[in-house]
Amino acid sequence: MSQNPPSLRPDLAPAARITDAPRSGQPTIGMVSLGCPKALVDSERILTRLRAEGYGISPDYSGADAVIVNTCGFLDSAKAESLDAIGEALAENGRVIVTGCLGAEPEYITGAHPKVLAVTGPHQYEQVLDAVHTAVPPSPDPFIDLLPASGVKLTPRHYSYLKISEGCNHKCKFCIIPDMRGLLTSRPAKAVLREAEKLVESGVRELLVISQDTSAYGTDWKDRDEKFPILSLARDLGSLGAWVRMHYVYPYPHVRELVPLMADGLVLPYLDIPFQHAHPDTLKRMARPAAAARTLDEIAAWREMCPDITLRSTFIVGYPGETEDEFQTLLDWLDEAQLDRVGCFQYENVEGARSNALPDHVPDEVKQDRWDRFMAKAQAISEAKLAAKVGTLMDIIIDDIDEDGIATCRTKADAPEIDGNLFIDEGTEGLSVGEIVSVEVDEAGEYDLWGRRVS
Ligand code: SF4
Repeated sequence: MSQNPPSLRPDLAPAARITDAPRSGQPTIGMVSLGCPKALVDSERILTRLRAEGYGISPDYSGADAVIVNTCGFLDSAKAESLDAIGEALAENGRVIVTGCLGAEPEYITGAHPKVLAVTGPHQYEQVLDAVHTAVPPSPDPFIDLLPASGVKLTPRHYSYLKISEGCNHKCKFCIIPDMRGLLTSRPAKAVLREAEKLVESGVRELLVISQDTSAYGTDWKDRDEKFPILSLARDLGSLGAWVRMHYVYPYPHVRELVPLMADGLVLPYLDIPFQHAHPDTLKRMARPAAAARTLDEIAAWREMCPDITLRSTFIVGYPGETEDEFQTLLDWLDEAQLDRVGCFQYENVEGARSNALPDHVPDEVKQDRWDRFMAKAQAISEAKLAAKVGTLMDIIIDDIDEDGIATCRTKADAPEIDGNLFIDEGTEGLSVGEIVSVEVDEAGEYDLWGRRVS
């Protein structure tokens, strides 16, 4: 079966980057972090704790006394990738602790890899740490092992993921995340804000707010002052002076109250909303939240309030029972919705998902054909939207400057790793990574822009 390219797989997160060199004799742990940005945040937390306890972090297998593999179990292909990663870590290092989503099925892992030292489930931080302590006893040195104020970060220093809740109260039929991660549990707003403040103080210029269901943040609290606590959290995060980007927002009616914060410049005018499909029958078979929402009306309302808003979404094509007619509705919807950024993946069975049992699974070649048609349309929309930006001025954040002086940047419309880039080919002397500067856009491609600095 064909696979979507990694850039379009919503379950994939950027690879972990670890740069700290351990000191000689220090007990040292390696980390392989697979899966979504939420898993990446878990990896960061585990490494933060290990650093605080005096462990070194090894960027390779050979320098590590043991390796933690943080797994993903979202799709069967992701599970297979996790098993491969565990096998590689066993072959290269031999001492492997498994955690993350796939850890919810320990026998699946131990069946394939009986030699792993321990298996723990998602967000079982203490158990992972216990397993590390058993495998590699700590040797703390409080004078050397001072934790950086921002903790250990696997993302570049100028942006950071900020996880605001865990779990989900929905029961989408294709998804096993609620089984693996449990019901929605929101972090206290004070804790989220404290973490965000520390990140901003340590140089983070962009906060990427993530969860399974960001718009539902705080609705699991029995005693709450407001109906939708995401609104005040967004306002408070927006007051910290960093870019705040909201991911995984569902199109509930109260999103209309979030958009004015974007129009006011408190939060980036960017909504990452996983619509998944547009035909009401398909959405019903998926058991999607807000399946009955009139999403085109919502989109029109958001754009009226905030004309600059960028809308990103992901979709599934070839869901069981999807007829050509339903798919055509999705294409027509996309034509009308004119989303700025779109990811799409072909439906796959995932062990334990209720959608597996649905009738009328779509043949692989039909899925591929629909995916091709969907992406062709999405690409044409993206190209036209980017072409319209030529000649405009915009603020960009610099992610990288290479040895030839070419700067890879992002506009407010681009989330790191999943959206496009803006490149500055010359005149980057004196600029640094993480800086936010103004550019004039002078060229546009299918997904990327080029620009030049303006003073
Ligand atoms: S909203 Fe649906 S797809 Fe998203 S985590 Fe919850 S159950 Fe899964």
